[in-house]
Amino acid sequence: MARYIFVTGGVVSSLGKGLTTAALGALLQARGYKVRLRKFDPYLNIDPGTMSPYQHGEVYVTDDGAETDLDLGHYERFTGVPARRSDTVTSGRVYSDVLQRERRGDYLGGTVQVIPHVTDVIKEYIQADTGDADIVLCEVGGTVGDIEGLPFFEAMRQMAQELPHRRAILVHHTLVPYLKAAGELKTKPTQHSVKELRSIGLQPDILVCRSEHPIPEGERRKIARFCNVRESAVIPALDVDTIYQVPISYHDAGLDREVLAAFGLADRRGPDLDVWRRIVDGVRNPEGEVTIAVVGKYTGLADAYKSLAEALTHGGIANRARVDLDWIDSEIFEREDAVAHLGSVHGILVPGGFGERGAEGKILAVTFARQHRIPYFGICFGMQMAVIEATRNLAGIENASSTEFGPCENPVVGPMTEWTRENRIETRAAGGDLGGTMRLGAYDCDLVPDSRVRAIYGSDRISERHRHRYEVNINYRTVLEGCGMTIAGLSPDGELPEIVELAGHPWFVGVQFHPELKSKPFSPHPLFASFIEAAIAQSRLV
Ligand code: GLN
Repeated sequence: MARYIFVTGGVVSSLGKGLTTAALGALLQARGYKVRLRKFDPYLNIDPGTMSPYQHGEVYVTDDGAETDLDLGHYERFTGVPARRSDTVTSGRVYSDVLQRERRGDYLGGTVQVIPHVTDVIKEYIQADTGDADIVLCEVGGTVGDIEGLPFFEAMRQMAQELPHRRAILVHHTLVPYLKAAGELKTKPTQHSVKELRSIGLQPDILVCRSEHPIPEGERRKIARFCNVRESAVIPALDVDTIYQVPISYHDAGLDREVLAAFGLADRRGPDLDVWRRIVDGVRNPEGEVTIAVVGKYTGLADAYKSLAEALTHGGIANRARVDLDWIDSEIFEREDAVAHLGSVHGILVPGGFGERGAEGKILAVTFARQHRIPYFGICFGMQMAVIEATRNLAGIENASSTEFGPCENPVVGPMTEWTRENRIETRAAGGDLGGTMRLGAYDCDLVPDSRVRAIYGSDRISERHRHRYEVNINYRTVLEGCGMTIAGLSPDGELPEIVELAGHPWFVGVQFHPELKSKPFSPHPLFASFIEAAIAQSRLV
C-alpha cells in the first residue's frame, strides 16, 4: 500500500512548492523508493488547456494527452517518471465528476454536499492509478485559507485518519521574511499559517521555510515550539543559484531524513546524489557560452516557456556550455530590421504559439536564420512558420499561409480534415468546444534514413508529444522538397509531416511536436543537445 505526502503552502504563493515536490521525489527515488507525483489545483477550470499562458504559464502535456499544470514538468524533469492524466486534478474536474454522478442518479436521491461527496471524489483521485508506487507525493495548489482549496484540505485530513497510522504526512511551506528595518527574520507569518492549518484539523509533520537568509537555530526552535513540530523538522530553504541544486540542498537540510522519520521508515543509507552533483558542476563551470534568440509571443513571462528554457539549459549541459536566452517578441521584426536583434546570436528558436499576432515577425526571423545560415530550431508553430517561409520565399508561392489565420489559397498549413476525407489519426470535431480539439499527447514518428534527425536520434522511430490543431499539408511535399525543404519525419501512416529540414544549411530543423517536454537534466533531449552543439560551432564563426 502506498504512502502519501501532502505538500501544501501558506503565507504567500510562489514559494516553489512544485520544485520542492519534484526535488523530494528525486531524493526518495535516490533512496530506492518508487514515487508518483501529482498536482491538485483548486481552480474551477477542468484543466489548464484553455488558460492563457499569461495567467498560468506553460501547459505541460503528458504522453497520454493530458494538458496539465507546469509543475508536472518539474516532476518529470527531476524524477524521470512520466506524468499521466491521473496525476492532475482540478476542482473543475472534481465538481464535473460529482455533477455527472448526480445526473446519473448515483446518489440515489441523497442531498449532494461538499462533505462527503466532493471530498470522497478527491480521495478517490488521490488514491487512483498509483500503480506500484511506494510513495505518492500530492501537491495542493494555492495557499491554505483559500476558499476553493478547503475541500482538498478536508479530503487530506480524512485520508490521514482513514489510512493506517503513519501512512500520510504533511509537508507545509511557509515564508520566513527578513525585515530590514528590524534587522530580523520574522517567524510570525509561519506561526499564523500553521494556526490556519490546525484550525481545519491538519498538523504539519515538516515545515519547509523559504527564506532569503539563513535561519538561526533560535528561530528554528521558536518555529518548532509555536507550530508543534520537531526542531529537526523545520527545514530551511534558502535561494539557490541553479534549480538542480535543490535536491542536494534539501538533503543537506535533512528533508528526506525527516520524511522517512515521519513515516517511521528506517534511514538505512543516504541517497546517491552524484548525478545531481555532476549536473550542478556542469551548470556552474561551463566551458563555453552561446546566445539563443527565442522569438515568440509570451516572451515577457518566463513561465510561459518553462520546459523550453529548461531543455535549452539541458542542451547546454550536454555540451558543457552556458546557454543565454534572448527572449524577443516577434512583433518587433514587423517594425524593425532583424539584424539589430539577431545579428549576433548563435541560434534562433521559434517556439510553439497560437494565433496570427506576431506570425509575420516569426516568419521574418526564419528568413534571417535561413539566409544568414544561423542554426534554426522551429518547434510546432515554429515549424509551421518555417514551412510557410520556404513555400513563399524559396518556392515563390507568395500567398502560402496557414488556415489558422483565415481561409487562404495556398494552405500549406491547415487542419488535416481539409485534405483527407477521413481523419485516420483521431476525430476532432470542427467548431466544437475549444477545450479538447487538439492533437494531444505522444505519437510515433518515422525518421527518414540519411536525414539529420535520424542521425541525431540514432533511431528509426521516435515518440514525441503534440499539442496543436494544424498540420503541414502533405500535398505540398513536392513543392517543399523541390526547394530544398525535406520532410525528415512522418507519422507512421505517411500522412502527417512531423519534421522538416533544410538541405545545405548548417542546422535547420522544424518539428511538429514539443521535444522540450521530454528533456531532463540527466538526459538532455538529443535535438536540444545537437542544436546547442551547432550554436557553439556558430559562435566560433562570429
Ligand atoms: N497554433 C498551431 C496549431 O494549433 C501551433 C500550436 C503550437 O505551437 N503548439 O497547430
